Amino acid sequence: MSKFNLKNIVRKNIWELKPYSSARSEFKLYGDVSTARNSPSGKMGLTLLDANENPNDPSILNSELIIPNLNRYPDPLQSEIKEILCEQKGVDADQIFVGNGSDEAIDLLYRIFCEPGNDQVITCPPTYGMYEVSAAINDVAVVEFPLTSTFDLDVDGILKSNAFAKAKLLWICSPNNPTGNVLLKADLEHDWQAENYTKGGMMDMPYAPEFEEELKENQRLMDQLIGGFNGIVIVDEAYQDFTENQSFISRLADYQNLVVLQTMSKAHGLAGARTGFAFASKEIIALFNKTKPPYNVNELSQKAVVSALNNIDNTRLQVEEIIDNREILIADLQQLDFVKQVFPSEANFVLAEVQDATKVYNYLKDKSLIIRNRSSQIPNTLRFTVGTKDECEALMEALKEYKSI
Ligand SMILES: *Cc1c(COP(=O)(O)O)cnc(C)c1O
Repeated sequence: MSKFNLKNIVRKNIWELKPYSSARSEFKLYGDVSTARNSPSGKMGLTLLDANENPNDPSILNSELIIPNLNRYPDPLQSEIKEILCEQKGVDADQIFVGNGSDEAIDLLYRIFCEPGNDQVITCPPTYGMYEVSAAINDVAVVEFPLTSTFDLDVDGILKSNAFAKAKLLWICSPNNPTGNVLLKADLEHDWQAENYTKGGMMDMPYAPEFEEELKENQRLMDQLIGGFNGIVIVDEAYQDFTENQSFISRLADYQNLVVLQTMSKAHGLAGARTGFAFASKEIIALFNKTKPPYNVNELSQKAVVSALNNIDNTRLQVEEIIDNREILIADLQQLDFVKQVFPSEANFVLAEVQDATKVYNYLKDKSLIIRNRSSQIPNTLRFTVGTKDECEALMEALKEYKSI
């Protein structure tokens, strides 16, 4: 079915690249080294004289440094993080790339697949700005297929275009930033069962006939848009934790050219730790690993990510609260007479169309309330990140006063 051939679309210099061999990745039993670096020197019977490090642990002299052993280089393949992700995401460790933010994965996709000055990619604006910025940095052309007036993908336009036959990358952000809606559904069957379950039905409720049609239609769409594409389809799931829809990780086995991006920056509360993930076939992940800088995720971040993933239940509680706040914020915004339209959201932000976006934006800024003016992408729109209950209330209080000006 698929015409996809990985070797045909990888840059020749990357396919032939002999990666830098770091001191630690040469050592076969990295696990032992990893344990050794986290235990007092010498305890594991390993004497580490391979990487020109200072043998002294700075945390012994400086009590403000709460992470021990920063004198050692971090694990280049982040095995502790991957071990947890394997279980939580149901993939193998060699299907995971851990990066310095998902922004690193975005840049690597250009560097692995796109010949500067020659290749092109497809984006569907309004969407996340880094796809275009990274393209410009890598001297790659962008062919835009704007979303329709209802913020849906222009599937026919994309499928019929020359760009679809030639492009190396197809970027789909879902839920999309800044519109907040889901652009593609990975698995309608999952949605059907979840919906019936919440309505008090059985988990394996038989399909209604019209649903069978929807199911087939969605599968056909996947086969055309992903299966029918010669390049890599990237589904950026930065906001996946805020939607009920199934992650595209569940479709990796079906599509060899699919890459799914997720991040610790949004739901997981670790934007400062700069850590994001790419999930894909092990062949694609091997290309990421050989192209990335050897020690791309620092030790402080690796420790923070392991701790956050080990406490995923706390994150889930916070996400539930943010979703509750989101629905209240949407309802409150709809009450304001200068708000023309509030778009539904499956993310942790809300996009609204107002009468004079720049005026509202400046008014809030003068009150030290910082939001995002998205008018350059969609006329007279503002994007509000869903904050704490108090922050949402402070925002609404200010906006209600604006109404009376
Ligand atoms: C915020 C965001 C990211 C996050 O990038 P990081 O580098 O992981 O912080 C990626 N994609 C989209 C669509 C985003 O909105």
